[in-house]
Amino acid sequence: MTTNAIPYERTQLEIIEDVPERAMVVFAHPDDGELGAGGVIAAWSAQGCEISMITCTSGSSGSNDRSMTSDAIVPVRRSEQMRASEVAGAKHVEFLDHPDGGLEADRVFLGEMVWMIRKYRPEVVLCHDPHRFNGFNHRDHRMVGTAVLDAIYPYARDHLHFPEHMEHDGIEPYKVREVLMWGSDTPNAIVDTTNGVEKQIEALHQHESQVGGLSDGPAVGDRLRERAKTVATNYPFEYGQAYRRLIARG
Ligand SMILES: [Zn+2]
Repeated sequence: MTTNAIPYERTQLEIIEDVPERAMVVFAHPDDGELGAGGVIAAWSAQGCEISMITCTSGSSGSNDRSMTSDAIVPVRRSEQMRASEVAGAKHVEFLDHPDGGLEADRVFLGEMVWMIRKYRPEVVLCHDPHRFNGFNHRDHRMVGTAVLDAIYPYARDHLHFPEHMEHDGIEPYKVREVLMWGSDTPNAIVDTTNGVEKQIEALHQHESQVGGLSDGPAVGDRLRERAKTVATNYPFEYGQAYRRLIARG
């Protein structure tokens, strides 16, 4: 979780009130999706939004235990992610199983992002902001953000990109309406997560292997509540999550 001091008090964030019919959350490692969007997943799914979660790496490097191996941690993290997604309220979970730390925003990964968008047809996609400068940003996070933005525009939209996708039933070009990026230096929008923050914390607690990591123990709940409350200061709700929002033209 980033602890960068983002000057929310000096930034007027647009309040996102519309709940989409379908949303997609794309993230590098198991637990990133709950950290970046768990409150929104819970709040929106409770209002009928169909949410898909795309886990891009297997989380094979995610352990501080020197006796742990990548082969042993991968199935643990996969089952933790499945439980966490269910708790948060997501309907679909996909695992792309790239190696942790080995993501490349290349043609293969781009094609996978385009396929997921054409398959699930979300109006809103949530993902990592690849353009953060005020702090370190995991390379895998940058790769995910870059591939998702490229996939939305123009690759998923235009039928002559990855035309082989259209040979499959139900797969058509698709235009995403907007993207919400977490971890941004320059957030411009906020979602009310008051009805989602407790589910977000419960979902994060499913990542039990990450003791000592980002979703570590009971303290994660206090930290998340405090941060969500700070973000929502001066807004007409108690907890919120801020994003960099880009809306597709035309
Ligand atoms: Zn991560």
